[in-house]
Amino acid sequence: MFCPFCSHEDTKVLESRVLDSSMRRRRECIKCKNRFTTYEKADFQLTVLKKSGKIQPFDSNKILQSIQRALGKVDDTIINSLSLKVERKVLKKKTNPVPTSYIGKCVLTELRKMNKIAYLRFASVHKEIEDPKMFEKELQTVV
Ligand SMILES: [Zn+2]
Repeated sequence: MFCPFCSHEDTKVLESRVLDSSMRRRRECIKCKNRFTTYEKADFQLTVLKKSGKIQPFDSNKILQSIQRALGKVDDTIINSLSLKVERKVLKKKTNPVPTSYIGKCVLTELRKMNKIAYLRFASVHKEIEDPKMFEKELQTVV
């Protein structure tokens, strides 16, 4: 970790605190003694494998957006907690890259627990990148 003030490469960690999806560390530069805070995201190096075969960095905002699209006007805290649950599940899988189909399934599971309408709405978007038979099966489980 380089010091943002003097670029010295050695800093001391004064305090670490686990936040919802990241680690906050209070650091002090050993050379210039300036203090600063860093946020380390556990999903930093996680990548996703798209159906097209393309690999791209994991972006929790995309989960958030797809949930938002499915749920429409809902309280932000609900969307955030849903998205966080999905993110934790994806991180727990410890596969890198993670197939987008797996992420989609996690979102579906969480949505189903919460709201049937939202679940169906998301599933109808999701089916475009998934096997239609799987979508049918999914539908049967809620209708
Ligand atoms: Zn420094």
